Amino acid sequence: MASVADAQWLSPAGRAATTHKLQQADLKIGFPDQWPAVGHYALDGHAFLANVLAARRYEQRREWSRPGTPRNRAAWEMIVSPWVGDGMAAARLVVPNGFPDAFSNSVIMTAAFLGAPRFDGDAAPELNYATFGSVFAHEFVHVAETHEFGADGSVQELWSAADIKAEEAAGQCVVAQANAWEPLPGVKMKGERQYGENVADYGGLRLAFEALEKRLGTDALYRVDASGTSPAQRFFYKYAQYRCTAQTDEDLRKTVESDSHAPTVFRVNAPLSNLPGFARAFSCQPGAKMARPPEQQCRVW
Ligand SMILES: [Zn+2]
Repeated sequence: MASVADAQWLSPAGRAATTHKLQQADLKIGFPDQWPAVGHYALDGHAFLANVLAARRYEQRREWSRPGTPRNRAAWEMIVSPWVGDGMAAARLVVPNGFPDAFSNSVIMTAAFLGAPRFDGDAAPELNYATFGSVFAHEFVHVAETHEFGADGSVQELWSAADIKAEEAAGQCVVAQANAWEPLPGVKMKGERQYGENVADYGGLRLAFEALEKRLGTDALYRVDASGTSPAQRFFYKYAQYRCTAQTDEDLRKTVESDSHAPTVFRVNAPLSNLPGFARAFSCQPGAKMARPPEQQCRVW
Protein backbone atom coordinates (compact mmCIF):
# COMPACT_ATOMS: atom_id res chain seq x y z
CA MET A 1 0.00 0.00 0.00
CA ALA A 2 2.87 2.35 0.80
CA SER A 3 4.24 1.64 -2.65
CA VAL A 4 0.96 2.68 -4.27
CA ALA A 5 0.91 5.81 -2.12
CA ASP A 6 4.44 6.56 -3.42
CA ALA A 7 3.35 6.13 -7.04
CA GLN A 8 2.90 9.85 -7.51
CA TRP A 9 2.51 9.50 -11.28
CA LEU A 10 -0.93 7.99 -10.55
CA SER A 11 -3.81 10.34 -9.75
CA PRO A 12 -5.23 10.32 -6.19
CA ALA A 13 -8.36 8.56 -7.49
CA GLY A 14 -6.24 5.97 -9.32
CA ARG A 15 -4.17 5.36 -6.21
CA ALA A 16 -7.27 4.99 -4.04
CA ALA A 17 -8.86 2.47 -6.42
CA THR A 18 -5.61 0.48 -6.69
CA THR A 19 -5.12 0.46 -2.92
CA HIS A 20 -8.68 -0.75 -2.41
CA LYS A 21 -8.15 -3.51 -4.95
CA LEU A 22 -4.94 -4.69 -3.27
CA GLN A 23 -6.65 -4.67 0.12
CA GLN A 24 -9.42 -6.86 -1.30
CA ALA A 25 -7.05 -9.30 -3.03
CA ASP A 26 -7.37 -12.89 -1.84
CA LEU A 27 -4.27 -14.86 -0.96
CA LYS A 28 -4.46 -18.45 -2.13
CA ILE A 29 -1.54 -20.25 -0.60
CA GLY A 30 -0.78 -23.94 -1.01
CA PHE A 31 -3.99 -25.64 -2.11
CA PRO A 32 -7.74 -24.95 -2.27
CA ASP A 33 -10.00 -25.37 0.77
CA GLN A 34 -12.37 -27.18 -1.55
CA TRP A 35 -10.96 -29.27 -4.36
CA PRO A 36 -12.64 -29.02 -7.74
CA ALA A 37 -14.78 -32.00 -8.68
CA VAL A 38 -12.78 -34.64 -10.52
CA GLY A 39 -15.70 -36.71 -11.73
CA HIS A 40 -16.34 -40.42 -11.96
CA TYR A 41 -15.33 -42.20 -15.11
CA ALA A 42 -13.77 -45.54 -15.83
CA LEU A 43 -9.98 -45.72 -15.70
CA ASP A 44 -8.05 -48.61 -17.14
CA GLY A 45 -4.61 -49.68 -15.91
CA HIS A 46 -3.48 -50.42 -19.46
CA ALA A 47 -5.10 -47.69 -21.55
CA PHE A 48 -3.28 -44.40 -21.08
CA LEU A 49 -4.79 -42.61 -24.08
CA ALA A 50 -8.32 -43.71 -23.22
CA ASN A 51 -7.82 -42.46 -19.65
CA VAL A 52 -6.54 -39.07 -20.83
CA LEU A 53 -9.45 -38.68 -23.25
CA ALA A 54 -11.97 -39.63 -20.56
CA ALA A 55 -10.48 -37.06 -18.17
CA ARG A 56 -10.47 -34.38 -20.86
CA ARG A 57 -14.05 -35.13 -21.84
CA TYR A 58 -15.12 -34.75 -18.22
CA GLU A 59 -13.21 -31.49 -17.75
CA GLN A 60 -14.44 -30.01 -21.02
CA ARG A 61 -18.07 -30.73 -20.10
CA ARG A 62 -17.51 -29.20 -16.69
CA GLU A 63 -16.04 -26.06 -18.24
CA TRP A 64 -18.92 -25.75 -20.68
CA SER A 65 -21.38 -25.95 -17.80
CA ARG A 66 -19.76 -23.03 -15.97
CA PRO A 67 -20.87 -19.97 -17.99
CA GLY A 68 -23.77 -18.24 -16.30
CA THR A 69 -23.07 -19.77 -12.89
CA PRO A 70 -22.34 -17.37 -10.02
CA ARG A 71 -18.79 -16.12 -9.66
CA ASN A 72 -16.95 -17.84 -6.82
CA ARG A 73 -13.89 -15.92 -5.73
CA ALA A 74 -12.68 -18.80 -3.56
CA ALA A 75 -12.42 -21.15 -6.53
CA TRP A 76 -9.07 -22.20 -7.93
CA GLU A 77 -10.63 -23.04 -11.25
CA MET A 78 -9.31 -20.16 -13.30
CA ILE A 79 -7.34 -20.95 -16.40
CA VAL A 80 -3.81 -19.63 -16.07
CA SER A 81 -1.29 -19.40 -18.81
CA PRO A 82 2.04 -17.99 -17.80
CA TRP A 83 5.13 -20.06 -18.52
CA VAL A 84 4.23 -23.70 -18.46
CA GLY A 85 1.18 -23.67 -20.67
CA ASP A 86 -2.49 -23.26 -19.99
CA GLY A 87 -4.08 -25.16 -17.18
CA MET A 88 -6.53 -25.05 -14.34
CA ALA A 89 -4.89 -23.47 -11.31
CA ALA A 90 -5.74 -26.36 -9.00
CA ALA A 91 -4.16 -28.77 -11.45
CA ARG A 92 -0.96 -26.76 -11.45
CA LEU A 93 -0.14 -27.05 -7.77
CA VAL A 94 2.79 -29.26 -8.65
CA VAL A 95 4.35 -26.36 -10.58
CA PRO A 96 6.47 -24.29 -8.18
CA ASN A 97 5.24 -20.84 -9.06
CA GLY A 98 3.08 -17.93 -8.14
CA PHE A 99 0.56 -16.23 -10.39
CA PRO A 100 -2.16 -13.61 -10.21
CA ASP A 101 -5.76 -14.25 -11.19
CA ALA A 102 -7.45 -11.08 -12.38
CA PHE A 103 -10.92 -12.68 -12.53
CA SER A 104 -10.99 -13.42 -8.80
CA ASN A 105 -8.54 -10.66 -7.75
CA SER A 106 -6.26 -13.13 -6.05
CA VAL A 107 -2.66 -14.19 -5.84
CA ILE A 108 -1.88 -17.88 -5.91
CA MET A 109 1.29 -19.45 -4.52
CA THR A 110 1.25 -23.14 -5.31
CA ALA A 111 1.92 -25.93 -2.82
CA ALA A 112 5.03 -26.89 -4.77
CA PHE A 113 6.39 -23.40 -4.25
CA LEU A 114 6.33 -23.88 -0.49
CA GLY A 115 9.24 -26.32 -0.46
CA ALA A 116 13.00 -25.83 -0.12
CA PRO A 117 15.03 -24.27 -1.62
CA ARG A 118 12.35 -21.73 -2.57
CA PHE A 119 10.77 -21.66 0.85
CA ASP A 120 12.15 -23.15 4.04
CA GLY A 121 10.38 -22.39 7.31
CA ASP A 122 13.61 -22.91 9.26
CA ALA A 123 15.73 -20.66 7.05
CA ALA A 124 16.73 -17.10 7.99
CA PRO A 125 14.13 -14.54 6.88
CA GLU A 126 16.40 -12.93 4.27
CA LEU A 127 16.50 -16.21 2.33
CA ASN A 128 12.74 -16.66 2.20
CA TYR A 129 12.17 -12.99 1.42
CA ALA A 130 14.59 -13.31 -1.52
CA THR A 131 12.68 -16.20 -3.08
CA PHE A 132 9.10 -16.52 -1.84
CA GLY A 133 8.96 -12.83 -0.89
CA SER A 134 10.17 -11.49 -4.22
CA VAL A 135 7.83 -13.73 -6.23
CA PHE A 136 4.89 -12.92 -3.97
CA ALA A 137 5.57 -9.18 -4.37
CA HIS A 138 6.04 -9.66 -8.14
CA GLU A 139 2.52 -11.09 -8.35
CA PHE A 140 1.17 -8.17 -6.34
CA VAL A 141 2.66 -5.76 -8.84
CA HIS A 142 0.72 -7.65 -11.53
CA VAL A 143 -2.44 -7.14 -9.47
CA ALA A 144 -1.78 -3.40 -9.21
CA GLU A 145 -0.97 -3.19 -12.92
CA THR A 146 -4.13 -5.00 -14.03
CA HIS A 147 -6.23 -1.87 -13.81
CA GLU A 148 -8.84 -3.23 -16.24
CA PHE A 149 -10.26 -5.42 -13.44
CA GLY A 150 -11.94 -4.28 -10.24
CA ALA A 151 -11.56 -5.40 -6.64
CA ASP A 152 -14.12 -8.21 -7.09
CA GLY A 153 -12.54 -9.47 -10.30
CA SER A 154 -15.17 -8.03 -12.63
CA VAL A 155 -14.16 -6.15 -15.76
CA GLN A 156 -13.97 -2.53 -14.71
CA GLU A 157 -11.52 0.25 -15.59
CA LEU A 158 -9.96 1.62 -12.40
CA TRP A 159 -7.78 4.25 -14.01
CA SER A 160 -8.54 7.33 -16.06
CA ALA A 161 -7.10 7.81 -19.55
CA ALA A 162 -4.60 10.22 -18.00
CA ASP A 163 -3.54 7.54 -15.45
CA ILE A 164 -2.91 5.05 -18.24
CA LYS A 165 -0.80 7.60 -20.12
CA ALA A 166 1.09 8.45 -16.92
CA GLU A 167 1.90 4.79 -16.36
CA GLU A 168 3.22 4.48 -19.87
CA ALA A 169 5.46 7.48 -19.24
CA ALA A 170 6.66 6.14 -15.85
CA GLY A 171 7.32 2.73 -17.38
CA GLN A 172 9.33 4.10 -20.29
CA CYS A 173 12.45 3.88 -18.12
CA VAL A 174 11.95 0.11 -17.69
CA VAL A 175 11.30 -0.33 -21.42
CA ALA A 176 14.42 1.64 -22.32
CA GLN A 177 16.68 -0.34 -19.98
CA ALA A 178 15.54 -3.61 -21.55
CA ASN A 179 15.92 -2.27 -25.08
CA ALA A 180 19.46 -1.11 -24.30
CA TRP A 181 20.57 -4.57 -23.21
CA GLU A 182 21.97 -6.98 -25.76
CA PRO A 183 22.04 -10.53 -24.40
CA LEU A 184 23.95 -11.80 -27.45
CA PRO A 185 25.62 -9.86 -30.24
CA GLY A 186 22.84 -8.70 -32.55
CA VAL A 187 20.03 -9.99 -30.31
CA LYS A 188 17.80 -7.19 -29.08
CA MET A 189 15.43 -7.38 -26.14
CA LYS A 190 11.76 -6.54 -26.60
CA GLY A 191 11.33 -3.92 -23.92
CA GLU A 192 7.74 -3.06 -24.83
CA ARG A 193 6.53 -6.64 -24.93
CA GLN A 194 8.31 -7.69 -21.73
CA TYR A 195 7.33 -4.56 -19.85
CA GLY A 196 4.66 -6.22 -17.66
CA GLU A 197 7.05 -8.87 -16.36
CA ASN A 198 10.03 -6.55 -16.05
CA VAL A 199 8.13 -3.94 -14.05
CA ALA A 200 6.89 -6.74 -11.77
CA ASP A 201 10.50 -7.92 -11.31
CA TYR A 202 11.75 -4.43 -10.49
CA GLY A 203 8.90 -3.70 -8.08
CA GLY A 204 8.80 -7.21 -6.61
CA LEU A 205 12.45 -7.21 -5.66
CA ARG A 206 12.24 -3.76 -4.14
CA LEU A 207 9.11 -4.53 -2.15
CA ALA A 208 10.56 -7.78 -0.80
CA PHE A 209 13.76 -6.00 0.22
CA GLU A 210 11.84 -3.19 1.91
CA ALA A 211 9.70 -5.73 3.76
CA LEU A 212 12.88 -7.41 5.00
CA GLU A 213 14.28 -4.07 6.11
CA LYS A 214 11.09 -3.44 8.04
CA ARG A 215 11.35 -6.83 9.72
CA LEU A 216 15.05 -6.74 10.66
CA GLY A 217 15.60 -3.00 11.05
CA THR A 218 18.03 -1.04 8.88
CA ASP A 219 21.07 -1.51 11.16
CA ALA A 220 20.74 -5.27 11.40
CA LEU A 221 19.99 -5.55 7.68
CA TYR A 222 23.36 -4.13 6.64
CA ARG A 223 25.47 -5.35 9.59
CA VAL A 224 28.06 -7.99 8.66
CA ASP A 225 27.79 -10.81 11.19
CA ALA A 226 30.02 -13.73 12.21
CA SER A 227 29.41 -15.41 8.85
CA GLY A 228 31.25 -12.60 7.08
CA THR A 229 28.14 -11.40 5.23
CA SER A 230 25.16 -9.20 6.09
CA PRO A 231 21.51 -10.23 5.79
CA ALA A 232 21.17 -7.74 2.91
CA GLN A 233 24.03 -9.41 1.04
CA ARG A 234 22.56 -12.85 1.66
CA PHE A 235 19.19 -11.64 0.36
CA PHE A 236 20.80 -10.63 -2.95
CA TYR A 237 22.96 -13.76 -3.21
CA LYS A 238 19.91 -15.91 -2.68
CA TYR A 239 17.84 -13.96 -5.19
CA ALA A 240 20.57 -14.40 -7.82
CA GLN A 241 21.01 -18.09 -7.00
CA TYR A 242 17.29 -18.62 -7.24
CA ARG A 243 17.21 -17.18 -10.76
CA CYS A 244 20.48 -18.84 -11.85
CA THR A 245 19.96 -20.69 -15.12
CA ALA A 246 22.20 -22.64 -17.47
CA GLN A 247 21.08 -21.71 -20.96
CA THR A 248 22.39 -22.29 -24.47
CA ASP A 249 22.61 -19.34 -26.84
CA GLU A 250 19.85 -20.86 -28.90
CA ASP A 251 17.53 -21.10 -25.91
CA LEU A 252 18.43 -17.58 -24.85
CA ARG A 253 17.50 -16.33 -28.31
CA LYS A 254 14.18 -18.16 -28.03
CA THR A 255 13.48 -16.57 -24.63
CA VAL A 256 14.04 -13.11 -26.06
CA GLU A 257 11.79 -13.85 -29.05
CA SER A 258 8.84 -15.51 -27.37
CA ASP A 259 8.85 -15.32 -23.55
CA SER A 260 7.01 -12.53 -21.78
CA HIS A 261 9.77 -12.71 -19.13
CA ALA A 262 13.28 -11.39 -19.71
CA PRO A 263 16.22 -13.82 -19.68
CA THR A 264 17.26 -14.59 -16.12
CA VAL A 265 20.54 -12.63 -16.33
CA PHE A 266 18.46 -9.53 -16.93
CA ARG A 267 15.92 -10.53 -14.27
CA VAL A 268 18.76 -10.44 -11.74
CA ASN A 269 21.06 -7.65 -12.88
CA ALA A 270 18.42 -5.13 -13.94
CA PRO A 271 16.35 -4.98 -10.73
CA LEU A 272 19.46 -5.09 -8.52
CA SER A 273 21.24 -2.28 -10.35
CA ASN A 274 18.18 -0.06 -9.87
CA LEU A 275 18.00 -0.62 -6.13
CA PRO A 276 19.95 1.72 -3.83
CA GLY A 277 19.91 -1.01 -1.13
CA PHE A 278 22.00 -3.28 -3.36
CA ALA A 279 24.70 -0.64 -3.86
CA ARG A 280 24.70 0.00 -0.13
CA ALA A 281 24.90 -3.70 0.78
CA PHE A 282 28.01 -4.23 -1.36
CA SER A 283 29.50 -0.71 -0.94
CA CYS A 284 29.41 -0.12 -4.70
CA GLN A 285 31.37 2.97 -5.67
CA PRO A 286 29.85 5.57 -8.00
CA GLY A 287 30.34 4.37 -11.56
CA ALA A 288 30.17 0.69 -10.61
CA LYS A 289 28.42 -1.34 -13.30
CA MET A 290 25.78 -2.72 -10.93
CA ALA A 291 24.93 0.66 -9.36
CA ARG A 292 23.01 2.95 -11.66
CA PRO A 293 23.24 6.62 -10.72
CA PRO A 294 20.05 7.83 -8.97
CA GLU A 295 18.82 9.77 -12.01
CA GLN A 296 18.95 6.58 -14.12
CA GLN A 297 17.14 4.35 -11.63
CA CYS A 298 13.67 3.21 -12.70
CA ARG A 299 10.85 3.09 -10.24
CA VAL A 300 7.21 2.55 -11.13
CA TRP A 301 6.02 0.63 -8.05
ZN1 LIG B 1 4.92 -12.26 -13.69
